[in-house]
Amino acid sequence: MERERAKNGEELPVSEQSVGILHGVGQKTREALSKLGVETVGDLVRLYPRAYQNRGDTMSLSLIREKLADGETGPFSAILTVAAAPVTRTVRRGMTLTKTRAFDETGSVEITWFNQPYIVSRVHVGETFRFYGRYTWEYGKLNLNSPVTEAWREDVPLADIVPVYPVTAELKQKFMADAVAQALRLTEREWKENLPLDALSELGLPTVGYTLRQIHRPESAAAIGAAKKRLAFEELYLMFLSMAQSGAAAKQPSGALRFTDCGLDEFLAALPFALTGAQARSVGEIAADLSGGKLMNRILTGDVGSGKTAVAEAAAYLAVKNGKKAVVMAPTEILARQHYADFSRLFEKLGIKTALLCGATKKKERNEILEGLRADGGVDIVVGTHALLTEDVTFGRLGLAVIDEQHRFGVRQRAALFEKAKNVHCLVMSATPIPRTLTLAAYGMIDVSRLDELPAGRAKTSTFIVNESYRERLNGFIRKQAGEGRQIYVVCPAVEEREREADAEELSNLSLYEETPETAPMKSALQTADELAHALPELRIGFVHGKLKSAEKDRVMTEFAEGRLDVLVSTTVVEVGVNVPNATLMIVENAERFGLSQLHQLRGRVGRGSYQSYFILVSDTKSPEAQDRLKAIKSTTDGFEIAEYDLELRGPGDFFSEAGAIRQHGQMNFRLAAACRDPVMIERASYYAKRTVEDDPALARPENAETARRLAALGRKEGKIQN
Ligand code: ADP
Ligand code: MG
Repeated sequence: MERERAKNGEELPVSEQSVGILHGVGQKTREALSKLGVETVGDLVRLYPRAYQNRGDTMSLSLIREKLADGETGPFSAILTVAAAPVTRTVRRGMTLTKTRAFDETGSVEITWFNQPYIVSRVHVGETFRFYGRYTWEYGKLNLNSPVTEAWREDVPLADIVPVYPVTAELKQKFMADAVAQALRLTEREWKENLPLDALSELGLPTVGYTLRQIHRPESAAAIGAAKKRLAFEELYLMFLSMAQSGAAAKQPSGALRFTDCGLDEFLAALPFALTGAQARSVGEIAADLSGGKLMNRILTGDVGSGKTAVAEAAAYLAVKNGKKAVVMAPTEILARQHYADFSRLFEKLGIKTALLCGATKKKERNEILEGLRADGGVDIVVGTHALLTEDVTFGRLGLAVIDEQHRFGVRQRAALFEKAKNVHCLVMSATPIPRTLTLAAYGMIDVSRLDELPAGRAKTSTFIVNESYRERLNGFIRKQAGEGRQIYVVCPAVEEREREADAEELSNLSLYEETPETAPMKSALQTADELAHALPELRIGFVHGKLKSAEKDRVMTEFAEGRLDVLVSTTVVEVGVNVPNATLMIVENAERFGLSQLHQLRGRVGRGSYQSYFILVSDTKSPEAQDRLKAIKSTTDGFEIAEYDLELRGPGDFFSEAGAIRQHGQMNFRLAAACRDPVMIERASYYAKRTVEDDPALARPENAETARRLAALGRKEGKIQN
């Protein structure tokens, strides 16, 4: 589209132009902005402040003293008159302190600036300033360190609420504020409403113009609240929209794909075990879909280990039995390999040909598979990664598409798959047990099968909660398990570098996002890996984290899966459904940082063989809430129950995307929606999304044009995450 416009000599809308067109944005800055997911001017408009400084809420020093005594920490704002000329002294090389005193009618405060000697020329005796910062009560007096210092004059009003933007080390707040101001000015006339107008009026949400203006230059805390509510709704709406869209695409009447032969005797005889009740029920639901004359659009949800693969195999079997082919797509190569191993072992017995296609597949073999996928080719079932999505892959006689862990694919990849697998039966597998409440809302257009029962004969996994004082014993336990030939996972929370930096330097007392309260200092994954290597030098330890290239990640994961590593230290980015039955111990560091559903999924990585397994949560958290959550994990193993509880506590975040994977890449997408705990908002967003898609599945109507653009922009970012 971009090229077409250029050809016609038409200008691209400013929103879609590169941030490079802004004043003061050069190559370096563009790279820094890109780390924040900002490529276009429009992205900058959608880069919401992470917090605000409420400098306008000024109070007297005596009130500040009272608040401090009540345990509040501020920051606070006060209008004060300077009592003495500031004096600078050098305390040691490279460090100066500039001190003065200031007062109001209720008291006085000692102010210290670090390394800001120029203050002397700006702050004079008798002048009045608004001082915003952290006040403390120490040594029997009120102190204030390095406050934001603004000259206070009746005739020059100051901004009361000042946004704090997400930044990287290279970007300064002042720069961000300028760049965003430019972006707002340049794009304002292009802003278009992207929500249904009746949704706005029903829920009392502000328009897009008000929202974008207030989110960046709020008039009041209440205005931020209104804007935030609208943005949360918008994110929910877009999220549901992309789900409903993929649902609608599949759900078309199709007599052609009515499977008439749904007998499973031969299949069940070849299966090495008897189906559980839940598996049998799900297979029955699928068979009914496949023979029902409409396209199946079903999600199969169940805990890790609940046996989703066998259900997918039954569906694939029915496709082949009815003269069609099936495609099974997994988000990573290692998962694709595991599925392939499982499928090919079973289907070989049935004389059904299975092939594996991923990025690493050699050209010659690849060509053979592509050949086999033609209508007259010999491949019945192909398992693979997104390598299946390249242009040269075409499926003949395709009848069924199975997608594992759909949420791990980007919007674009999903779209590409739906394009290729148009008009075929579709089965999505999800290891996140989706709470019933959300199923109703999100999957109204999709049918749901639930595997709420685990195959019998599994050794139980025991869950323990310990604190740092157990470190020695933990290491001893790792040694013992490894000594018995077992394998160990150590999982650490992903480090959000950018946010930590920002936290350290910027004071704010109004937050846009709900931050996880800082309960205990977080150990980095790197440090954990280091310490383990020191404590247990005799063990083979591997380390995977989000910053690794995916080939490298896969290599380490494969080494672990093949038993060539004793311990795998990882961040959750890699926590996909890998099956290593020999792993019997998982230790989760800073467990309070994880969502319940995440923890539950992690627990599913162990206890997959016949060995007694252990799931150990390490946490020094003092927060009673966090402790309750950890206890909840200890007390139940029912994924659906946990999911319901997690939804209540944290909002739908975990269920839509693996929040960890998105946050780690510094993306802000859907963070507001993820934290939205208002069931009415969730339900209404889903209602409007469904309605929109029913009316206009391709979002082709003019009134949906802006919505389509927003989805595309989000898809572009999500696509980036995958790379
Ligand atoms: P999921 O994909 O849901 O995490 P899998 O399909 O990988 O689970 O199944 C986990 C393990 O359980 C596999 O080793 C599989 O062979 C085994 N399994 C699946 N269904 C049954 C069953 N009905 N009885 C016994 N074992 C089963
Ligand atoms: Mg699986």
